Amino acid sequence: LVHQGGSVVKILVIGTGYVGTTTSLIFCEKGHQVTGLDLDDRKIQALTSGKLHFYEPGLEELLTKHITNKNISFTTDTETAIKENDVIFICVGTPMGKEGSADLTFVKNVAESIGRYMNRYKVVVTKSTVPVGTAEKVTNWIIKNQPTPISFDVVSNPEFLREGSALYDALYPDRIVIGTTSEKARTIMEELYKDFQCPVVQTNPKASEMIKYAANSFLAMKISYINELARLCDRLGINVNDVSKGIGLDHRIGPLFLRAGMGYGGSCFPKDVNALLQTAKENGQLLSILDSVVKVNASQPLYFMEKIQQALGGDLQGKTIAVLGLSFKANTDDTRESPSLIIIENLLGDQVTVRAHDPVVHLDNSPLSEVVQQFETVAETVSGTDAVILCTDWEDYKSLNWGELKPLMKQPYIFDGRNMLDKREVESLGFHYIGIANH
Ligand code: NAD
Repeated sequence: LVHQGGSVVKILVIGTGYVGTTTSLIFCEKGHQVTGLDLDDRKIQALTSGKLHFYEPGLEELLTKHITNKNISFTTDTETAIKENDVIFICVGTPMGKEGSADLTFVKNVAESIGRYMNRYKVVVTKSTVPVGTAEKVTNWIIKNQPTPISFDVVSNPEFLREGSALYDALYPDRIVIGTTSEKARTIMEELYKDFQCPVVQTNPKASEMIKYAANSFLAMKISYINELARLCDRLGINVNDVSKGIGLDHRIGPLFLRAGMGYGGSCFPKDVNALLQTAKENGQLLSILDSVVKVNASQPLYFMEKIQQALGGDLQGKTIAVLGLSFKANTDDTRESPSLIIIENLLGDQVTVRAHDPVVHLDNSPLSEVVQQFETVAETVSGTDAVILCTDWEDYKSLNWGELKPLMKQPYIFDGRNMLDKREVESLGFHYIGIANH
């Protein structure tokens, strides 16, 4: 299956979203032949013509390169794709399901198809984030659907990339985790990853599955930790950014995921923390720290809302407010669980007229477009508003000319949910500035 001397491995990647497309392209970069499979015809058509159906810096250039070099192709034909490839990466979504657990419907469908169409030995790799015990389930789903028994191995190989820097993260990971009990599968995985310069953690599938949840939950914990601390700093008149810097320089702590803001969002942290809590519950083990992480995160946008209400005199009814940024963080178009949308919901609940802007997200197809007006430029968005709320840390927003924007506004209020502006600078222009313990 895997030949010595650097020959090509035929890889199938099922699910062409953020993770699937990135995974496909980095394996192309390493000289492998990749097929990307998705059930969504529009995505496959877009990718086939060299267009990304989502926003991710740097990825489209690589897509064009590997389409031109014929290293990658895309299809909706599940049967042929499974038959023709030997290593199958499952990269489908695992959204939040009942009571916070991960919904494995898409993974199950894929595993059943693999069983049904399997024609020879395959390595089936779960790259989707899946709860402890899923490798075993995938194995059973495959076996149940095989018309005749054919051997295969299941490997857990979680993905740690971040949206916004997906390509870099996938090409230069801090570590690669390979969870399998099969020597044959381990050898094939090692061969696939042999050109990556990072430590490889070899373990069993359950530990590998746990590593992914433990990592994301730890990062979520860092964010909730600094956010809750920021509330105390606010009371004490301390600049939390200085505290972040002062503790983040300690190598044992590290500076990342330690910036106070409106709470974590996105398609991973909220669902992964909840899924781990659900696993804990099912196994009769309390994870009290993570319970608090979720509570702090849920109340952080509301804490910020209270500050907005207080500063603007209590009642927001009839006010017009500009929201800058819709995605859950900069450099992505992902709005899943975005704190920005929570703020907008609260503003609408307070009878505020909301004007919104984002460099890449368009509300066109969202129900929000009926109640929120979106504008092309920041200047249009802030015109006639009582306040601006900075919700996403887009680079564009850090370099705005506030001196030019101020005369367009009805009242000069800036609420900085990401602590990204220089307080003194905007105050010297006559703005009232309120951040998250940004004193
Ligand atoms: P996504 O929603 O962007 O993409 C999933 C894709 O799978 C969709 O295009 C969907 O059409 C396709 N799909 C669903 N069922 C299918 C089937 N039966 N056959 C073929 N295609 C099918 O999801 P994503 O953000 O790429 O995440 C995928 C997984 O990776 C999730 O488990 C997620 O938790 C995990 N993950 C995500 C990130 C991230 O930053 N997005 C990072 C690490 C891990």
